[in-house]
Amino acid sequence: MSESSKIFKIKGFIQHYAWGGNTFIPELLGVPNPDGKPCAEYWLGAHPSAAAKLIIENKEVALNELIARDPATALTDSVYQKFGELPYLLKVLDVKQMLSIQVHPSKEEAEKGFDREEAEGIPINAPNRNYKDRNHKPEVMVALSDFWLLHGFKEKSLLENTLSEVYEFNILLPLFKRDGYKALYQFVMEMSQQEVNAFLMPTVKREIRRKREGELSKAEPGWWVAKLFENDEQIVNIDRGVFSIYFFNIVNAKPGEAVFQGAGLPHAYLEGQNIELMANSDNVLRGGLTPKHIDVPELMKHTVFEGIIPNVMKGNEIRIGEKNYPCPVPDFSISKIELKEDMTYSNSAEGMELLIVTEGAAVINNSLVLKRGEAACLFPDAVYEIITSGNCTLFKAFV
Ligand SMILES: [Zn+2]
Repeated sequence: MSESSKIFKIKGFIQHYAWGGNTFIPELLGVPNPDGKPCAEYWLGAHPSAAAKLIIENKEVALNELIARDPATALTDSVYQKFGELPYLLKVLDVKQMLSIQVHPSKEEAEKGFDREEAEGIPINAPNRNYKDRNHKPEVMVALSDFWLLHGFKEKSLLENTLSEVYEFNILLPLFKRDGYKALYQFVMEMSQQEVNAFLMPTVKREIRRKREGELSKAEPGWWVAKLFENDEQIVNIDRGVFSIYFFNIVNAKPGEAVFQGAGLPHAYLEGQNIELMANSDNVLRGGLTPKHIDVPELMKHTVFEGIIPNVMKGNEIRIGEKNYPCPVPDFSISKIELKEDMTYSNSAEGMELLIVTEGAAVINNSLVLKRGEAACLFPDAVYEIITSGNCTLFKAFV
């Protein structure tokens, strides 16, 4: 194989989920969106339902099909032995409406859960199916804009402050002080819808008024609660996910900052654009703010009930121009590569690598030009040099 037969342009797949924005992804990719459809995610990966397409001699070939032809060559022997597939999925996300509160199981728990639901005969696409595969779903995101997310429970003293400051939550304070995170969460997650409404209605109405009067900032839970309901003519039912907005850390990642979310950590994206890299899995246990299936006992079983201080990563420089965001999983790694006019980035791919340009334009091995929004797939052992005529930012996903 020559180097040119190991490096290809690749085109991803846009997911039009309702929570997505309608301009960021079309503008990044340079594609029109005349109907103003929501464009939530841009997938670069080998998932069979939405595989990226390589452009080989002007023909499109699906990445999953190309890998299937000779997986050990496409992925390397060791990756193929260990994972049996491309272990990661690279995405661009544009979050306009907040996503569901969620937790992902560990690898071990996913295997058990999948086998149990298979044995129970729950069809894989059934709405009450929790485990779609036998894999864990760790995720890392690097902000492309000012990005907001909910990430893990607040530390004890911070959560105590919240429970004292929000009048309706005062009665929860003794329960939390005495019995801790799990008891508190269980209490609100097991309330009837009627109780949730009675509990939260005054809170929600007050937050809408406070936001309108300019009393709230995005660093406060009330801002996000108000955003959820401010356009409703009449508030009928209040989603119990609202409790989580108060109980979890609200994290603001600035462009270039990253957050990793491992098994058991409750989280939800609130707003903004990012690059996300995750293990190839669809195992999501939800805790609200979604019309999808919520299985409270299963969610409780896999949630880590502890307060955390969010770790917002700025990245470690591992090569000139390349910052890596260390993630404690074997499935993937992500780097941001920033080049200026006279810089050259040289490397060779150890396994299958994906590159996407988010700013400027890059030239690989003096032949392949990647404009903003364009991506390349590099096969193992591909030797490459990246140069740019101006400033250029790329993200690299690898095993
Ligand atoms: Zn998630």
